[in-house]
Amino acid sequence: MTVDYSVLPHHKILCIDMKSFYASCSAVMEGLDPLECHLAVVGDKSRQGSIVLAASPRMKKDFGIKTGSRMFEIPNDPRIRLVEPKMATYVRISTELTRLFHRYVPKDAIHTYSVDESFIKIDGATSLWGDATTIARKIKDDMEREFQLPCAIGIGPNMLLSKLCLDLEAKKKGGCRVDI
Ligand SMILES: [Mg+2]
Repeated sequence: MTVDYSVLPHHKILCIDMKSFYASCSAVMEGLDPLECHLAVVGDKSRQGSIVLAASPRMKKDFGIKTGSRMFEIPNDPRIRLVEPKMATYVRISTELTRLFHRYVPKDAIHTYSVDESFIKIDGATSLWGDATTIARKIKDDMEREFQLPCAIGIGPNMLLSKLCLDLEAKKKGGCRVDI
């Protein structure tokens, strides 16, 4: 079977994923750099069997601790900061991030997929703000400047491809990538 992709709807979609969202938000609240600190969010610090809800990128890389790890697996290292979740704050920040997208596109162009992942359709925004890569960079810069929060952005002609692009490329490079 062949599929002619040229007949499928062709839009400009950004898939925006916050890096280690809970860990990054908590890092900022603690005055730490989300990308440099070793931070894990654990359900209950008083229980050794408590589950790790989120880990910062360096925590994953340097200590192999990730979502689903147990607190007793975390080594005793002075560089490591353990915090309990602040769900209400994460949700509030997520709402603020949606507001940030709304600077560039109308509300009905924003599809909030989860607390840390959104798709936005920028078809109507390019004449005002520039091409897809430019808009992705602006959003990424705004987030870093105003929230100190890192994100990865995939760009594609539909939600599936923008998500694939994000998972395959953008996360590795820590940036945004055009694939239209
Ligand atoms: Mg994420």
